[in-house]
Amino acid sequence: MKCFSEGKLGDAMTKNVPIINIKNVSYRYEQEPVLTEINLSIHSGQFWGVIGPNGSGKSTLLKLLLGLLEFKQGEIELFGEKIRAFQQWERIGYVSQKANSFNSGFPATVFEVVRSGLVKKTGLFRPYPKDIREKVKKALDKVEMGAFIDRNIGELSGGQQQRVFIARGIINEPDILILDEPTVGLDVQRVQSFYQLLKKLNQENGLTIMMVTHDFAAMSEGLTHIALLNRQLIFAGQIEEFKMDDIWPQFLYGPQEPFVYYQQSGGHGDA
Ligand code: ADP
Repeated sequence: MKCFSEGKLGDAMTKNVPIINIKNVSYRYEQEPVLTEINLSIHSGQFWGVIGPNGSGKSTLLKLLLGLLEFKQGEIELFGEKIRAFQQWERIGYVSQKANSFNSGFPATVFEVVRSGLVKKTGLFRPYPKDIREKVKKALDKVEMGAFIDRNIGELSGGQQQRVFIARGIINEPDILILDEPTVGLDVQRVQSFYQLLKKLNQENGLTIMMVTHDFAAMSEGLTHIALLNRQLIFAGQIEEFKMDDIWPQFLYGPQEPFVYYQQSGGHGDA
C-alpha cells in the first residue's frame, strides 16, 4: 500500500496506536446533553463515514476533535497523545463545510488556495518557491486537478472547487483527512464522482479519512467503517457488520432506551 507519509504512518501501524481515540466523551453546551458517552477509534488506513441527521451532534464532535471546544467528561487522544497537549496539527488535514462556494470574482488562483494550506516553515527549513509549486502540483494531481493550477478558483465548478480544497487538505501530507459535510451543494452526479475520488485516495494512496456527513448515500461508496451518530453512537464498526434493519429505528428516533448496539472494531488490518 502506498502511503502519504510512510515514516509517521509506519510508526502508528507498528504500535497500533489509533490516529483518533475518543474515549467515553460526553458534552453539553447548556442543560441538554449533545453528545453522550462517545467511544470511537480510527486507525491508519481506514475510511470512516460518520453519518447523522441535522442536530445529531456532528459539528460538536468535530469541534471537540479539532480542539475548539473544551470538554469535561472523557478523553480524546490524537496519535496516542492527549488532545490538550497535542501540537502536531499538520498531521491532520481538514476540509471545512462550504469550502466549495467561492464566487467567480474571488481573487485567488488554485495554486494560491492550495498553498495557503501549507504549514509555515521558517528559517533554514523554508522551502524554495519551486519546491512549493511542486508540492502544490503533486497534491492537485492526487485529486486530478493538476491542469487547473493557474486558474482562478471562482471559475471552477463546485465539484472542482471541492477537489481543490481536498488538495489543500492534503498539502502537508497528513496522516488523516477530516471532511465536514463535503457534498453539500453538489449535484447527484458530482457527489458520486467525489465519493469515487475519496475511495481512490483511501485505497490507492493509503490516506486515512473521516468524513462527517448527513448524506446516507455515503454509506454505499468506499467506506471501510461507519459510525451512526444521533447524540450517541448508535453503531460504530466495519461496514460489513452494519445491519441497517436493526439500527434504523434507533437512529431515526434517537436513543430513547438505554440499549445501544455498539460494535467497535479495532486494528488497522481490517480496513
Ligand atoms: P449537527 O452538526 O449534527 O447538525 P450540532 O453539533 O451542530 O449538530 O448541534 C447539536 C445540538 O447542539 C443542536 O441541538 C444544536 O442546537 C446544539 N448546539 C450547537 N451549537 C451550540 C451552541 N454553540 N450553543 C448551544 N447549543 C448548541
